[in-house]
Amino acid sequence: MQVTSRKFKENAHEAMQDENLRAALGRVKEGFTAKRAEAAADLPEFEDLRDQARDIKDHVLENLDYYLEYFEKKVIEAGGVVHWCSNAKEAKETILKICRDVDAKTVTKGKSMITEEIGLNKFLESEGIEPIETDLGEYIIQLADEPPSHIIGPAVHKTKEQVTELFHEHHQQYGYTEREEDAEKLVGEARAVLRHKYVVADVGITGANFLVAETGSTAIVTNEGNGDLTQSLPKTHIAVASIEKVIPTLEDVSTVMRVLARSATGQEMSVYTTFSTGPKRSDDIDGPENFHVVLLDGGRSEMIGTELQELLRCIRCGACMNHCPVYHAVGGHSYGWVYPGPIGAALNPQMVGIEEARHLPNASSFCGRCEEVCPVRIPIPKILRHWREKAFEQQISPKPERWGIELWGFFAKRPWAYRLMTKVAVRVLGLMGGKNGKIKSLPMNNGWTAVRDLPAPQGATFMEQWKKQEGR
Ligand code: SF4
Repeated sequence: MQVTSRKFKENAHEAMQDENLRAALGRVKEGFTAKRAEAAADLPEFEDLRDQARDIKDHVLENLDYYLEYFEKKVIEAGGVVHWCSNAKEAKETILKICRDVDAKTVTKGKSMITEEIGLNKFLESEGIEPIETDLGEYIIQLADEPPSHIIGPAVHKTKEQVTELFHEHHQQYGYTEREEDAEKLVGEARAVLRHKYVVADVGITGANFLVAETGSTAIVTNEGNGDLTQSLPKTHIAVASIEKVIPTLEDVSTVMRVLARSATGQEMSVYTTFSTGPKRSDDIDGPENFHVVLLDGGRSEMIGTELQELLRCIRCGACMNHCPVYHAVGGHSYGWVYPGPIGAALNPQMVGIEEARHLPNASSFCGRCEEVCPVRIPIPKILRHWREKAFEQQISPKPERWGIELWGFFAKRPWAYRLMTKVAVRVLGLMGGKNGKIKSLPMNNGWTAVRDLPAPQGATFMEQWKKQEGR
């Protein structure tokens, strides 16, 4: 996928003018957050489970090489093959080779953010293989030729009317000549079109929510059941997963799953949870004849042992974006790469480079809601601060911002000067606010005052008020 994180400001500006997007994002804001809150309140041990999930992921990250090798051993024992890929190019070439080996013309795909990350669809198309997304949201954005805008709701930015138009444009070839406006019937239409694709697909490609080390299984959770059909109908199943998805035992998986669905959609469990262990055995009724796991590093091992390691705990539930005021305002596409919202702002600078993603660490009000709701307690604001420091050190942040911080640093190191400066600033800003106490324009801060007034400070500085109150 083409990275446009550098244009975050332009992307965000455009998104905020988009009425359809405003309507669609309203649903994220209301729906997901209320459901998560209810689900958390209904489970007394929810906070304990979050601690346990965090500890499981931390333990794995401390012993990642051990669990990955153990997982590989178990996959081989079950008759599967593991392919180790250090980057997107290797992963795509590995998948292509597997497809070529079985002479694949069509592949069905279950929802997989990792294949978005490596840009698999475009690559397969360029090699003459037709990829068909089978998750409804992914299918919609594939028709629209757009990237996902949310981790668990890739087409959350689309209104029903836009989906009607998309289906009308693309489904006439299958005999659907009427514009369908009923949501349930639209789903039925997509289901009927996709069913045929499942039957003709030579290969099924899925992601994996978890890789279970003790059994060598891959696990996916879906609400549509498309993952099951994708991995069991074609003769070859390829599971693509990044290395941090490994979990030691099935019991650990069950602990993490208890916080995953509740944090994501407010469900106790997703509708379908499917474990795949090796290819079909002789007494199995169905299943693939070949089972491959493509394990992608993609820059993750470099994060181990650094300030960024905690990001690898992410289980891609989407709760941080559902609760983020910035995501609610600008939507997922503004972030310019596959991972949007707070997790994207924290992760993308590592994945695509801080130079390219330099605006993302600033796409935060630091309200802390992302950390508050993250089921594995990732300290996203702390990591955003890390990236801001990096941008400052590498002189990537704009000069006025750096000068401002340096000036602030000068005063902050000299308390007497700081007190004097704040005293003067409070008085000057108070005067600028005039009778109604609102500042309409402030040099170097017009990003704020261009669209809203800045309330002028009232009265004395904090220190002056503190002293007065304490009688010092
Ligand atoms: S950072 Fe936390 S809240 Fe955000 S997607 Fe990952 S696990 Fe979910």
